[in-house]
Amino acid sequence: MSAFGPERKPSRSDGAAEVGKRTPLRPGFTHSLAGLIDRQVPVRAMCDTCARFRDIDLDALAQVKGMDYDLWNKRTRCRIEPGCKGWNRFYFSGRGRFEPMRDA
Ligand SMILES: [Zn+2]
Repeated sequence: MSAFGPERKPSRSDGAAEVGKRTPLRPGFTHSLAGLIDRQVPVRAMCDTCARFRDIDLDALAQVKGMDYDLWNKRTRCRIEPGCKGWNRFYFSGRGRFEPMRDA
């Protein structure tokens, strides 16, 4: 149905690392909201369809999801642009630019 490539369901194998798979560089502090908050890492959600982004309030998110919540490989339906059917994915600021919080 989607015009934006194959639909990928959220992974059910969360935490079950696949051995032998190419492991992307993932800073340790990205493993939890606590790590990001500790380092005051800016995180934003960007939409793959309307291309808008918004900064994430990590403290507010931690109130809802808990400090151990892991944003990696997560995505949500666009909440930036009303009516947009795109996906929001998360990016963290690293080395002077925003890097995708997902496996390549
Ligand atoms: Zn959007």
